Amino acid sequence: MSAIVKKRKVDLECRAFNPEWEKYFFTERFGQAQCLICLKTVAVLKEYNMRRHWETQHQASSFASMFAAERKEAIVKLSGNLQKSTSLFRKQTTEADKVTRTSYEVSRLLARRMKPFTDGDFIKECIMVVIDSLCPEKRSAFESVSLSPRTVCRRIEEMSDSVNDSLKTCCSNFDAFSLALDESTDMKDTTQLAIFIRGVTAALQVYEELLQLVPLHGTTTGQDIFDAVLQCVKQHSLDMSRLACVTTDSAPAMTGKKKGAAPLLMRYCEAARHTQPIHKVHCIIHKSPCAPSLPTLLMSCL
Ligand SMILES: [Zn+2]
Repeated sequence: MSAIVKKRKVDLECRAFNPEWEKYFFTERFGQAQCLICLKTVAVLKEYNMRRHWETQHQASSFASMFAAERKEAIVKLSGNLQKSTSLFRKQTTEADKVTRTSYEVSRLLARRMKPFTDGDFIKECIMVVIDSLCPEKRSAFESVSLSPRTVCRRIEEMSDSVNDSLKTCCSNFDAFSLALDESTDMKDTTQLAIFIRGVTAALQVYEELLQLVPLHGTTTGQDIFDAVLQCVKQHSLDMSRLACVTTDSAPAMTGKKKGAAPLLMRYCEAARHTQPIHKVHCIIHKSPCAPSLPTLLMSCL
């Protein structure tokens, strides 16, 4: 309690830096007093703090034996050096930010075009050829953009995690949602179950997203699809009591009365005493706005 009162007292005093304190080789920076000699900062702007720092740290230094004019000159020079180093640091930070951002942008393009991660190296090679012939003086800036396969892979993973996090936040705000399930086989003969979600928030904002693409190894029975959907729903922390509709194709694994994924989902919700009736729709998935084409959705995710 006493600590809070003490802190408030300091806040209320609204201390300001007094230019006279420059005699202790201090200057004001970002609301704090900074020593021009050793660059240490003093959090509370109080003359005692600065005098104490000067007396304990620098009184024995050559700065103490300076005459008034000499001292003033030294203060101006040290202040100038400090300003210069700050602006240089800021410039370097923004340059580094731009370089990192470029690396993310190129990685994003590679993902959107479904190119292999190793293409990053080739793209950089091309950029360097162009730079060398058009503006060789800017070579160093472009050279520092990292596009190695490992970097591209890491960047894409980070962006994917970020998209997943946003999707989770979005899902947690849904008052009601519907799921659309579509199952097809990819080039390698692996069954892929696409789970789409359409949800509405209390503010009547509607979202449609590809929730997950789940590879189904082994059998693809209604139970397998049901298990995959349930796992996906849990992963995204969705509340099944808010499920309003399930849309599927008419394959027996989806709509079969006893063991179809959709009836299994309905029974699961009924057993959990969810009073809201669940609608079941089939055969309209490819026309339904609930399921835009897969590539469109994959791209919108990135
Ligand atoms: Zn100092």
